[in-house]
Amino acid sequence: MTTGYKTKARAELAELIAHKKDKIFKASELAQELSNSSLSTIYRNLQLMEKNGYIQSFGTDENKEICYRYIGPGDCQNKIHLICRKCGKFFHLEGDALQKIKKSILKECDFYVNQQESCLFGYCSRCYQKENPQAK
Ligand SMILES: [Zn+2]
Ligand SMILES: [Zn+2]
Repeated sequence: MTTGYKTKARAELAELIAHKKDKIFKASELAQELSNSSLSTIYRNLQLMEKNGYIQSFGTDENKEICYRYIGPGDCQNKIHLICRKCGKFFHLEGDALQKIKKSILKECDFYVNQQESCLFGYCSRCYQKENPQAK
C-alpha cells in the first residue's frame, strides 16, 4: 500500500464523515459505504481523527461497537449536542440557554465547559414516552 493510497482513503473517509453531521456513526456502517477501505483501515483512521479533534467517540452500542460523532469545523461547534440514546437523534443546545448553563456550571463547579466536545445523553420526549407510557 502506498502513502498516496492511504491519504486518499483518509480523505474519502473525512468527506463521508463531514456529511454525517448530527448523526451517530460506526466503523461497520462506514465500511459499507467505502467499498475500497477495510474495516481495520477505517478504525485506524477514526482513531487518528479522534486524536485530531475531528470526531468524538462516546461508548458503544448494544453490539459493543464504538459510536462516533462528528465535531469538526462547522456551525455545530458552538452548540452542545443532546443525543437520544434510543433513536440517535441530535438536538442543539445553543444561545441563551447554553450561556446560562455554562455560567451556572462555572459558578457552581468552577469549571469551563468546552461545548464543542460536550454532549448530553438521554431520550427525546418521543422515545421517553414510548419507554415510560405513564410519564408526562
Ligand atoms: Zn449539530
Ligand atoms: Zn429518540
